[in-house]
Order: sequence, then C-alpha cells, then structure tokens
Amino acid sequence: MKKNLAIYPGSFDPITLGHIDIIQRLAPLYDELIVVVSQSSSKTELFSADERKNMLIEALKNFKNVKVAIHQGLTIDFARNVGAQVIVRGLRAVVDFEYETSMANMNRKLAPEIETVLVFASPEYYFVSSRAVKEVAMHGGPLEGLVPTFVAETLYERLQQKKRNS
Ligand code: ADP
Repeated sequence: MKKNLAIYPGSFDPITLGHIDIIQRLAPLYDELIVVVSQSSSKTELFSADERKNMLIEALKNFKNVKVAIHQGLTIDFARNVGAQVIVRGLRAVVDFEYETSMANMNRKLAPEIETVLVFASPEYYFVSSRAVKEVAMHGGPLEGLVPTFVAETLYERLQQKKRNS
C-alpha cells in the first residue's frame, strides 16, 4: 500500500519548541513525516543548512517516523520526488496567514495533487519564532521554554563567536 507521507518544510534557523510542537502533533497522523530544511541562496541564516539539519536530528531523535532532509529549490519538487501527498505548515499570527495562503495557493497551482495542511500554533508557542529567539539570545535573555537546551547553548555560542569576529 502507498505510504501516507507528509513533509514539513522551513528554515529552522534554529529549531524551536514551536516547531517541535507541530511535529509532535502531526507525526502520528502520517506513516512518515520528513522535516525539510530549505537551503536558500541568501546568506541571512545564522546556521548553515547542515548545522540546522543536525540540530533537527538531535531534537527529533525520539520520533520514530520523523526524518530530516535538506532541499534547495521548490518545495513541491521535493514533495514529488519523495512521493509526499501533504505539505505541513504552522500558523501563528495573521501575518503568517497572508504568507501561508499565498504560498499554499501557488503550490496548489504548481502541484494540484499535493495538499497543504495548515496547523494552528498551540497557545503557548503562538509568539515563538526563530527570529524572535535569536533576538532574545542576542541580548542575553533566557531561552527556557523557547528552544531545546542544547539549541540554546549552540545559539549563545554562535552569537558570541559572531560578536568576536565582528
Ligand atoms: P520561523 O523562522 O518563522 O520560525 P520557519 O521557516 O522555520 O519559520 O517555520 C517553518 C514553519 O513552521 C512555518 O510554516 C511557520 O509558520 C511554522 N512555525 C514556526 N514557528 C511556529 C510556532 N511557534 N508554532 C507553530 N508553527 C510555527
């Protein structure tokens, strides 16, 4: 029988507890969930695609049906290559809605056979984004309840390294 396969694409720069919450809630609904690190050509990310992938692997090691991959290019191409029927995305504020709606519609136009599933953020993670987490870390704020402990340590380390080099 065909595998019920979903992908969850994003920057994950770095992974937050908000991302993990979505994965924890969605993974049981599919045979397999592939978390896909998008490798963009811009250099705005703090961590390389490989570093982001490795953090995801560590954070998600207890999820038996979750895999991690890196992809450069159109998400629908990755979905088609692996035979996924579903793209999972998370929804926080209204700004997410605008962005996610246009992306879902574009993906539907390009690949009508693939469905986008939008999942509401849990209330406790509604305000958590990788960008906000980096901002807090940059000013030495606490990251408990926002990212896994090892991610917080890696983040502080990287930001210090960046400060030293600037
Ligand atoms: P961000 O940098 O904003 O965290 P990503 O590209 O890493 O964004 O996010 C990948 C997907 O996960 C997006 O659909 C995003 O809306 C969703 N997401 C990010 N953080 C959360 C959260 N706290 N709760 C629910 N969904 C989230």
